[in-house]
Amino acid sequence: MVFGIALAAPMTGRAGLSSVPVGTLCSVQTNWLCPGTPLATPLYLIDSGQTGPVVLVVGGIHGDEEGSAAAGQIRAWTVRRGKLLVLPQANRLGVLQHLRTQPSDTNAATRDLNRNFPTYANEAPRGELATAIWAQVCALKPDWLVDLHEGYLKSPAKTNGLGNSLVVMNQPAVLRAASNLLAAVNATITNEAQRFVLRQQPIKGSLARAAGDRLGCHALLVETCRDNPNISQRTRQHRLLVHRLLRELGMDDGSPDVLAHKQPGVILVAIYDDSGGHATGRSERALEQAGDIQTHRVDSDAIEAGVLDQFDVLFAPGGSGSVQARELGKKGRDAVRKFVHAGGGYVGICAGAYLASRSQKRPYLGILNASISDFDRGRAVVQVELTGQGRQLLGRTERELSINYHNGPVWGPGSRLAPACEVLGRFRTDVFPTNRTTQVTMSGTPALLTGRYGQGRVLCSSPHPEAMPDLEESFRRMLRWAAGK
Ligand SMILES: [Zn+2]
Repeated sequence: MVFGIALAAPMTGRAGLSSVPVGTLCSVQTNWLCPGTPLATPLYLIDSGQTGPVVLVVGGIHGDEEGSAAAGQIRAWTVRRGKLLVLPQANRLGVLQHLRTQPSDTNAATRDLNRNFPTYANEAPRGELATAIWAQVCALKPDWLVDLHEGYLKSPAKTNGLGNSLVVMNQPAVLRAASNLLAAVNATITNEAQRFVLRQQPIKGSLARAAGDRLGCHALLVETCRDNPNISQRTRQHRLLVHRLLRELGMDDGSPDVLAHKQPGVILVAIYDDSGGHATGRSERALEQAGDIQTHRVDSDAIEAGVLDQFDVLFAPGGSGSVQARELGKKGRDAVRKFVHAGGGYVGICAGAYLASRSQKRPYLGILNASISDFDRGRAVVQVELTGQGRQLLGRTERELSINYHNGPVWGPGSRLAPACEVLGRFRTDVFPTNRTTQVTMSGTPALLTGRYGQGRVLCSSPHPEAMPDLEESFRRMLRWAAGK
């Protein structure tokens, strides 16, 4: 495990309570902030219909932090009493462009949204977005406000050293809750240096400080740590802390850890994001661009806990297939096989394609009925000749595609492929590793393959179509095919 999150971590308030009956009936209403403008962003009001606390969870005030992704997952939650309000993309333009500040504001004094909220009585917020958010906060009067952010571990090189902390208003109820929140999250972190710590008083001009000072709201900021490459673990820490607060407030309805918000016509894709494989933000955004695919990064603990049940497809990206297999462990690998066998989709690229294949030597999944004859040949741009099926599935008219190749698997020759495998494209280029005495010919072997595993569809690519800007739509079509669409 990277970053000392214990295996089978007790995310668990949620995962651990899955035996409790679930299904709280909540109504969900959407309020649009700045409607009809480029700043337009939705605020979700999840109402249990029972009296109880009102909790507002905010993400994306800084658009390049994963608080937005976590809040986008929390919006799929229900509560037993009170109301859960979620604003996942406060600075939506910043989230879309992965920028900390407001892209629409060129004034250095006001472009950081989290400095524009009232610092003294009767002061107006600064700028259109802060004004709209503040109006909602004043109207909805949340009892609690949790603003999800990210920082870095303290170091001379990094200006934001707030990583892995709770920054809380100096209010007795907040301090009491914070000590329980810290205990819950720190129980999942084995490395002492990476434990969450308590800090007091969010910075002046921030939403949390203004809500605390001006409205008497119980307010705190969560700061996970961007030094941790596992975004899936960071979003899980956000979820864990918010979930723990809901439990403190008697609002937790016992649901398992929920990430994905089901919507008609939307394909839900879990992206493996743990040791041995981290998707690029670019490929993630390419998938979401057409609007019919929603992605969430998941780590091995979440897969082991059964989170794939919420998804249509698992996407395993490049990295290292053996590290992914080891990280998943037997329980995680069994969870993936069970998911695909029952009708889930699987798309594996490079390392993710190794992971799906059959192997005598390595604990791969074996959900693609193809054996690997060679590996780690180097990197190059290769020519891939598409078959008729390949052109149809990828939506291409050309016979050959140029695709980045980076040590992907070589399958075959033909006798080592089960008849159930369908070849979408074959290498027409050879990449010869310089450090080998025996050379396997790569040209003519499959570059992209599909197969069936139980009720599920498996699509693997040895080269990297997701890395090619002109193949974005083909990449989306790969996911849609695996989802049965
Ligand atoms: Zn921030």
